[in-house]
Amino acid sequence: MNHEQSRALYDRALSVMPGGVNSSVRAIRPYPFFVQKGDGGHVVDADGNRYLDFVMGYGPLLLGHDMPEQVQSAVQRRASEGPMYGAPTEVEVELAEFVARHVPSVEMVRFVNSGTEATVSAVRLARGYTGRDKIVVMQGGYHGAQESTLVEGEGDDTHPSSPGIPERFAEHTLTVPFNDEEAAHTVFAKHGDDIAAVLTEPILGNYGIVHPVEGYHETLRNLCDEHGSLLVFDEVITGFRVGGLQCAQGKFDIDPDLTTFGKIVGGGFPVGAIGGKSEIIEQFTPAGDVFQSGTFSGHPVTMAAGLETLRYAAENDVYDHVNGLGEQLRLGLQDILEDQAPEYTVVGTDSMFKVVFTRNAPDSFEGHCEAGCQQREDCPRYEHCPKNAGDIKRAETERWERLFWPEMKDQGVFLTANQFESQFVCDAHTGEDIEDALEAYKEAI
Ligand code: PMP
Repeated sequence: MNHEQSRALYDRALSVMPGGVNSSVRAIRPYPFFVQKGDGGHVVDADGNRYLDFVMGYGPLLLGHDMPEQVQSAVQRRASEGPMYGAPTEVEVELAEFVARHVPSVEMVRFVNSGTEATVSAVRLARGYTGRDKIVVMQGGYHGAQESTLVEGEGDDTHPSSPGIPERFAEHTLTVPFNDEEAAHTVFAKHGDDIAAVLTEPILGNYGIVHPVEGYHETLRNLCDEHGSLLVFDEVITGFRVGGLQCAQGKFDIDPDLTTFGKIVGGGFPVGAIGGKSEIIEQFTPAGDVFQSGTFSGHPVTMAAGLETLRYAAENDVYDHVNGLGEQLRLGLQDILEDQAPEYTVVGTDSMFKVVFTRNAPDSFEGHCEAGCQQREDCPRYEHCPKNAGDIKRAETERWERLFWPEMKDQGVFLTANQFESQFVCDAHTGEDIEDALEAYKEAI
């Protein structure tokens, strides 16, 4: 593959942008390919190379790169009528109504411009509503580039995970291992009266894809209820992907107090949202006192793209298609691993998938689970499926990054360079694309 143009662009980029990119994950070594355009389930780079794309913009592109006619015309009409106004528009009401109608726990919505902004605002709202400062997050969970959640450490011994964040932020953030009920009880026993919220992804999507074990979310829900804390689901990745229009909370039948959204709800344009019970959401200004505001919030082009994308998904069996392909891929990957690398693990659900280069598992199994690790106790792999960040941490990062990822790219398959981030199947993918991907995996593994 020729990468002359990408190399030259990266050379220029390094002079004017830190690390040559605008989001750290894109700085793939030795240099990223620069994308010229998307094409359905594929992307084409600056040198004309074509890749089967499972990164899908890191999640927003449920439908793939080609906007269906109804999305495209809504976006173009909005853009041509002046992109934004600083006054409300009908389309934001319609999208808020759509979200409230489909997501079980959501009665009201505030739109913002990124997943990060959504989680920043949700944390402020939880603190403002409860009058408490502390939040509990999961080790290995990711909630964007925000001060309160960029922490490392355990329990109440936490520290900022980046320079530039005062220690005082981490003092208010407690961490627990995902799926560890005892740790959750312990943190509440010690700090329960000070905990404003537990903030968790329903499925860890930024650290290997880790499913909740049965009863875990119920335990968090009960602990929050007992102590007057809020349960906040970060559905930036899972929202309008896992569980379809009901999101992961519908799939797991859990009723969070607040939910953060991003990615798909903006149809590929910058977006975030905080949804929840009216009583809590109405604490945001101007209805309440918890300050929240934004020049671009509820941007008409984004709102139109999000609304038409979700309408299209509702009307066209999109979830059946992508979830079916996801299952085909996960089952195929399991067969490959069984033959070639039984200690590795296929994870994911619905349209999310990943092979994690785990070393937790023994080198043979009597049978395989049906579709990636869903933490079903009757699964022969249950014991060995990653349950938390500690399990994922032991995975073979070097092997993934230095050998596997470049090999897949050379075979024309674009995966996330970081082995811990979710990958996605989109509506534009076909059964044939999945077979091509499996062939490439077979070769590379
Ligand atoms: N929360 C979760 C669960 C995420 O996966 C992400 C981004 N991948 C964010 C928040 C932050 O969203 P954004 O990058 O749009 O700020």
